[in-house]
Amino acid sequence: MVLGDYRFALVDLETTGGQAGQDQIMEAAVRVLGGEQELEWQSLIDPACAVPSFIQGLTGISSSMLRGKPRFSEIQETLWSYLDGAILVAHNARFDAGFLRANFARYGRDYQPRILCTLKLARALYPDWPRHGLETICERIGFYSEVHHRAMADVDAMKAFLDYARADKGEAVFNFEAGLLLGLPVLPPTISQTDIDAIPLQPGVYRLLGEAGELLYLAGATSLQEQVCSHFENSAGDSKAAKLARRVYAVQWQALAGDLSAALHVNAALRAEKPLLQRRMKAMGKPCCMRFISNDRGELQLRLRSGLPANIAQTTELLALFRDRKHAKTRIAELAKEHDLCLRRLAVLADTESCGCRICTGAANLPSPAEAEAQLVLASNVEFASRVKAAFAGYLYAPWPFTEPALIHEQSQAGCSEWHLIDDWRYYGSFTWDAATGQLCELSDQARPVDVEAIRLRCEQSKELQYEHYRLLRAFRDDLPWLPLSEFAINKAQ
Ligand SMILES: [Zn+2]
Repeated sequence: MVLGDYRFALVDLETTGGQAGQDQIMEAAVRVLGGEQELEWQSLIDPACAVPSFIQGLTGISSSMLRGKPRFSEIQETLWSYLDGAILVAHNARFDAGFLRANFARYGRDYQPRILCTLKLARALYPDWPRHGLETICERIGFYSEVHHRAMADVDAMKAFLDYARADKGEAVFNFEAGLLLGLPVLPPTISQTDIDAIPLQPGVYRLLGEAGELLYLAGATSLQEQVCSHFENSAGDSKAAKLARRVYAVQWQALAGDLSAALHVNAALRAEKPLLQRRMKAMGKPCCMRFISNDRGELQLRLRSGLPANIAQTTELLALFRDRKHAKTRIAELAKEHDLCLRRLAVLADTESCGCRICTGAANLPSPAEAEAQLVLASNVEFASRVKAAFAGYLYAPWPFTEPALIHEQSQAGCSEWHLIDDWRYYGSFTWDAATGQLCELSDQARPVDVEAIRLRCEQSKELQYEHYRLLRAFRDDLPWLPLSEFAINKAQ
């Protein structure tokens, strides 16, 4: 970020009180920095009301001093010409911005500047100072002023603080903190634009590291560079994103073949590495499956059970899979509503519980309860069952579509190419293809070559089905080429 591209208006107002809606501005001072012309301007302003005595005591501005001075209406044009398009810099800037917004609004002007609050900036740059009022700051930085609480004196104090902080902390740190407060794109002081430019616009995983090399954040990205930069953009003020940006010292990244590869990596890495500033992965509830049971009257009923059946690969039973029980219950209720399925009829709810479906609530607009009953029976069990299955289509377990392991090929535009080994929806590792030796090489293990027979053996190890892998692989089923292992072997042998 280049703060030099912007025009800044350092502003201080003296007012008759603290309420922007009812109190009045009685003095304004502006110093415009940057831009084509640097200038300063100040004026006392007749507030057209008495100055409360404690304000008079604080500022030294009396009612008599304001008699005959211009009204806000007379200076607003001039003031606007200085402020319009400039970044508003003020100490406790919300106060000044509020008064300016309220006063300009009376003349049909909408004042919504970017704001740099020097109080927040002082707190961010000097967190160990006990207080950050303008007078304290002046003492700290050795800036002596004859007067306080007069508009131009306070503007000068702000200017002195900005100059001091920039020299004291250095341009990189100063720009970073100011940029964060302004919601402008920034870079952590220890990361240069050259570092950023070196990150490819390619899929992969990246890690944000702290000062001692500790892992703060870990994620996959479709475009590494863009996503790394997104951590340092619009992370305004004291947000979580800004908190993260402030602790980043270095970025590590690894380009991968694509989104599936990145997701498989992140999935494993998050479990192993536990980044400090990342929302803990949802304490994974147990995945959960829903069975479609036919009772002795041939009526379809839904049953939830925790965990996935051990023999899920061999099962011919219809099953719907969910992340966990809570998610299952939410989705069942939502889908029932969407598809107008009666949850009492499905035995999800007991007969005594209230179901929101059209028949139970009477909204089906059936003439009488007897007729509603008839309607219910008429909607035959077979028709009802097929509606239920259609409603849950997106969650139905799809049997493994091959009779052997398969390799999914993924390749990035930069030519990064990987083969992911999957059997029965279980993930057995990723490989690169070494054309020179005609062998697959382990991606994670310094390119150790692995032959097809070893791969086949590896897939014979029993492995629990991981719900996240299953969802992920299903999502990529149509987007990437999947090759059964035997076909792969034949292809590559040619
Ligand atoms: Zn119902």
